[in-house]
Amino acid sequence: MSGTKTAEKTVQNVEESMDLFTSTQTIIKEALEKLGYTEEMYELLKEPLRLLTVRIPVRMDDGSIKIFTGYRCQHNDAVGPTKGGIRFHPEVTEEEVKALSMWMSLKCGLVDLPYGGGKGGIVCDPRKMSMGELERLSRGYVRAISQIVGPTKDIPAPDVYTNSQIMAWMMDEYSKIREYDSPGFITGKPLVLGGSQGRERATAQGVVICIEEAAKKRGISIEGARVVIQGFGNAGSYLAKFLHDRGAKVIGISDVFGGLHDPNGLDIDYLLDRRDSFGTVTNLFKNTITNKELLELDCDILVPAAISNQITAQNAHNIKASIVVEAANGPTTLEATKILTERGILLVPDVLASAGGVTVSYFEWVQNNQGYYWTSEEVNEKLQKMLVKAFNNVYETSKQRNVNMRLAAYMTGIRKMAEAARFRGWV
Ligand code: GLU
Repeated sequence: MSGTKTAEKTVQNVEESMDLFTSTQTIIKEALEKLGYTEEMYELLKEPLRLLTVRIPVRMDDGSIKIFTGYRCQHNDAVGPTKGGIRFHPEVTEEEVKALSMWMSLKCGLVDLPYGGGKGGIVCDPRKMSMGELERLSRGYVRAISQIVGPTKDIPAPDVYTNSQIMAWMMDEYSKIREYDSPGFITGKPLVLGGSQGRERATAQGVVICIEEAAKKRGISIEGARVVIQGFGNAGSYLAKFLHDRGAKVIGISDVFGGLHDPNGLDIDYLLDRRDSFGTVTNLFKNTITNKELLELDCDILVPAAISNQITAQNAHNIKASIVVEAANGPTTLEATKILTERGILLVPDVLASAGGVTVSYFEWVQNNQGYYWTSEEVNEKLQKMLVKAFNNVYETSKQRNVNMRLAAYMTGIRKMAEAARFRGWV
């Protein structure tokens, strides 16, 4: 990539994360107003309480030293310690980390977890780094943020391009600094280091639970339902497989190159088999459709599981699904949310659909604290109960208050935090 192109991309990314941050603020403001809170409450919750920026020197394999920039952000700790993942990505920005820490507050509030939201990130490209370099970067990051994190302060977890191995290095580094074993410092660990059953599939499972609940509301049976999934990465492919196994007809899927459509149902097992490690498969076929056409296919359930800003004011009028479940971050713009709602389409917002990961992270932390571990069945049962309850709370709020599902999710998600702040006498 040329220098100018990189600069353009950075500018675009800064703008996009600014949009994410300001639109999050806009809905939090509206949610607090609807709940009857004063302007002071918004003043408290509109920005994170704490944002730490760190510079991490790492010895690279070729002997040189590279300095990486990292962030750890804590939105609000009125409810309890903050919680949220750490992403390793070349386009991480301060605004993005701030917005995502606020999303974590909403997710934790929605599921009624005893946490506020947090988020971390390092500007790096893990796909171009060796295991040794990644380990030194992970340990350096923990040393740099160790003062503000901990099992009863702020508990990190995996996010984009981080995994259980990175969590293991970070937990080990933290335990060395504190001089005692601290499994509760971080979640998403390997099972042998105190990880929980079911953590890896938890996010996708949460999306599936939301799809099932939404289908019930619309009187649609998953068996025979026509589903379109945009994105065939981790989330998209797991969802396709799960829904296909449950008898749904997955009639459309897509990847970065385009989409595939068969009104009689695609052969999902075959596509999964041919999918490469980047989640691409459509390049093997001749008769592809565009992403635009895919989103507008005649179907019952549409799951945008790829990137943001896919359903906009331009195409919201052409969406034919009766349920849209946001498995990606921010796939529907605020304007499009209004249009879909007016058209009677049931939209399950991202903060609700993606709350499964942090819910099982909470189970992991509880198990670490008590030193007693649950079976996979116990984890599944608890996850199912908590997410069904969260979905129905949001759905009822949206009906009773006559607001769209996104605003209802923000209202349900922010309420506990606002109440906790009031009891503490902060506002
Ligand atoms: N990174 C995930 C999320 O954004 C999980 C966070 C956690 O498990 O704490 O929801």
